[in-house]
Amino acid sequence: MSSTIQAVRGMNDILPDEAPLWEFFEDTVRDWVRGFGYRPIRMPLLEKTDLFVRSIGEVTDIVEKEMYTFVDALSGESLTLRPEGTAACVRAALEHNLLYGGPQRLCYAGPMFRHERPQKGRYRQFHQLGVESLGYAGPDMDAEHLVMVARLWKTLGLTEISLQINTLGSAPARARHRARLIDYLSAHLEALDEDARRRLHTNPLRVLDSKNPAMQELIEGAPRLLDELDEVSLKHFEELQAILRQVDIPFEINPRLVRGLDYYNFTVYEWVTTKLGAQGTVCAGGRYDGLVEQLGGKPTPACGFAMGVERLISLLREAGGLPETSVLDGYVVHQGARADAFAWAVAESLRDAGLRVVYHCGGGKFAAQMRRADGSGARYAVIVGDDEAACQEVSLKPLRALEAQARVSVQEAADIMRSGRQISAAQAGAAP
Ligand code: ATP
Ligand code: MG
Repeated sequence: MSSTIQAVRGMNDILPDEAPLWEFFEDTVRDWVRGFGYRPIRMPLLEKTDLFVRSIGEVTDIVEKEMYTFVDALSGESLTLRPEGTAACVRAALEHNLLYGGPQRLCYAGPMFRHERPQKGRYRQFHQLGVESLGYAGPDMDAEHLVMVARLWKTLGLTEISLQINTLGSAPARARHRARLIDYLSAHLEALDEDARRRLHTNPLRVLDSKNPAMQELIEGAPRLLDELDEVSLKHFEELQAILRQVDIPFEINPRLVRGLDYYNFTVYEWVTTKLGAQGTVCAGGRYDGLVEQLGGKPTPACGFAMGVERLISLLREAGGLPETSVLDGYVVHQGARADAFAWAVAESLRDAGLRVVYHCGGGKFAAQMRRADGSGARYAVIVGDDEAACQEVSLKPLRALEAQARVSVQEAADIMRSGRQISAAQAGAAP
């Protein structure tokens, strides 16, 4: 016997019991982004490796150790499965001159790939929903993104997600902070872990992003970027806060929030919940005014965010999942040579009437077919025997209500199934 093949570690199947919740989320999100004037964009899953190295930054977790990078044996090119969407979205906008048409509000969704240690809320293939606004400089756009997200939580009925914001300031402010940070960390060399020592001179800000519990005390005591901010940075940050207060979005300033990618400046934020254990960040984003230029475009301010779909699905599941709704209207059971043929026509007529109908396949006794009908979750069994077929009728049996079955024409069956009327009332109405 040959052995079975399993999925790649950290890459999940989303099974039919689970997929409807995903679809519910996706449908909700599609309406939501449209409602704010965002237009969808779809990028490839594979990009040239250089795109991510140049944008995310060489000395980051993602580029140092999380990317699925390989040489395409056929072309000799180094390619990478996208670890995030922003770089690819900006690349696409530049490649197709979208910015010539003015500022852009864009959104996308799909799988991302990072070679991390799989655990609850952390996978190697996971899904993000991303929103990017290109060509907007002011804090009003940062605020729009936060207003949007807050509305999505409301629509989804998710409470207990709180907002933490911070600012990374302008480049000169970051440079001043960087120098002070290197001094501070160098003075505490013995307390640094291996990653932190390596990053001390290349990317010291990232040390503050460390999740290593042993380093938290050191991080708590580090010089704060907030203390180095210049007037421009402060003004942007304060205006954002003023808008958030005005629209009643509660937030907390977290001076330790630095985000794991190089391209951020000014505003950064995370939406965090305590209900998912260690992986509590469900949405994260900020401003990245330098990225478009860094990728070869004209200087263009921009900002955006990404949501972790798996984590949101977990929250939705905890909050009760989907309301019980039957997706199927009818299940056609049939037995007898004449009935089998007529049942095809019945199923098609009901579908013509806009109903969702399964035609029983695989034969078998009526009783067994009825058990299948029941198990399918359909609202009605549509029963066709030779007797019904001879009269061009069906027996309609409600499966989710205590109501007797009735012999009706196919047209009547469609009417009853569509309107959800009681069979007896429908028949009474039909009687002369
Ligand atoms: P972390 O600090 O948890 O590693 P990150 O800064 O790497 O997060 P982002 O790149 O900002 O995460 O991605 C945005 C969101 O995507 C995260 O807040 C999270 O919800 C989700 N996410 C990131 N990596 C994973 C993963 N490996 N599996 C599942 N979801 C993820
Ligand atoms: Mg990460």
